[in-house]
Amino acid sequence: MLHPLSNRIKSLPISQTLAMAAKARELKGQGKDIISLSLGEPDFNTPEFIKEAAIQAINDNYNSYSPVNGYADLREAICRKFKRDNNLNYNINQVVVSTGAKQSIANVAMVLLNPGDEVLLPAPYWVSYSAISILAEATYVEIPSTIDTDFKITPEQLEAAITPKTKMIFFNSPNNPSGTVYTEAEYRALAKVLEKHPQIYILSDEIYEHINYGTPNFSFASIESMYDRTITVNGVAKAFAMTGWRIGYIGAPEWIAKACNKMQGQITSGANCIAQRATITALDEPVSRIQYMVDEFKIRRDLITGLLSEIKGIKTNIAQGAFYVFPDVSYYFGKTIDGVKVENASDFAMLVLEKANVATVTGDAFGAPNCIRISYAASQPELKEAVKRIAELLS
Ligand code: GLU
Repeated sequence: MLHPLSNRIKSLPISQTLAMAAKARELKGQGKDIISLSLGEPDFNTPEFIKEAAIQAINDNYNSYSPVNGYADLREAICRKFKRDNNLNYNINQVVVSTGAKQSIANVAMVLLNPGDEVLLPAPYWVSYSAISILAEATYVEIPSTIDTDFKITPEQLEAAITPKTKMIFFNSPNNPSGTVYTEAEYRALAKVLEKHPQIYILSDEIYEHINYGTPNFSFASIESMYDRTITVNGVAKAFAMTGWRIGYIGAPEWIAKACNKMQGQITSGANCIAQRATITALDEPVSRIQYMVDEFKIRRDLITGLLSEIKGIKTNIAQGAFYVFPDVSYYFGKTIDGVKVENASDFAMLVLEKANVATVTGDAFGAPNCIRISYAASQPELKEAVKRIAELLS
């Protein structure tokens, strides 16, 4: 019998990152020796000082609904963080705290997009940008890039993609899935194009800002002409190893923050109160307290990039941030490996899962059909073993 689901959910693709992680868990549950490099999730524990703040919050009886947009003192801490790390001046009425940056992004899309609006997605892009655009009944338009340009789009490409219907661009640096980090000069060159099109809003997803191996951080909204049109998205999941705590936030023009508050008030209310209290501590501590994780990610980046580059036919970028590499595997398309014909990146990812017991994510999900995403948020022995298995399969 056909279940009468809404057209909305029927048109929504499943999240490939979460689907691959679920598949890896399922196979592990069946006793298979799976190395899961699918999910973008630090393998560190949340730092002790943050856990202690959460325990304190429980003992202090933080158990009631919080304000929908987050505790005022958390929003003050977020304003301090924006000033300290991003040179951005926001007041607390411009900040909305949500249940993860994913909800922050969904809020923004829901309050700004109308059916027929176009959303620009520099590809590769995180899987949920396209899905959230679909939910908001907008049309997404990919701006392609390849490994040869370090997965960066040019101002000319941006200009060519803009139409009178363009309402928003999703920008993400350090980038998931490529690890690409745009320089300040590159941001400014893109902003020059956007200056000519005042109807376009910029969603700048900066969730990986602290996981950066050298390029100085830069925020879109710190460009004066962009400030009134940019929504800066961030959260604590990646930098503080707090993925499951679900705290994301935006800094935005006040009218957008107000609309997000209204949207969230009808869907989830305020984010988890204990996690909000712990986030105040996380954000107020010097960033140097989490540097040990970034240092380890950099060692792993070097390790996996070196190992992958030894495999024939795999072209690997050198990620400058986040914890992913995004190799081009198109050399193998059309070839038969271990009895399996590989036509595309999805086939390749499935082959690697089934024959090498290594879970990755197909680049199709990120708008880059020649690549696969490998998360190196895993231990060094796991990374070595995973690449060894892939190399053996491909040889
Ligand atoms: N953002 C992470 C990833 O890309 C977590 C999973 C998700 O929400 O997509 O793997």
